[in-house]
Amino acid sequence: MKRCPTCQGKAAIWCKQCNGTGTVGNLLVGFTKCSRCDGLGEHKCPNCHGKGVVAS
Ligand SMILES: [Zn+2]
Ligand SMILES: [Zn+2]
Repeated sequence: MKRCPTCQGKAAIWCKQCNGTGTVGNLLVGFTKCSRCDGLGEHKCPNCHGKGVVAS
């Protein structure tokens, strides 16, 4: 096992879908909670599935 290179071992990564703000949308359609991170601004790392380590 080694530290996950995607999240640097933090098990969570910055959400690109909402730029880490937790909300998506614009002034025309209004803002809604980001479905990717559920409004947290970061989400479980898809590379290590939230473990922070990957098989070497
Ligand atoms: Zn998000
Ligand atoms: Zn990871």
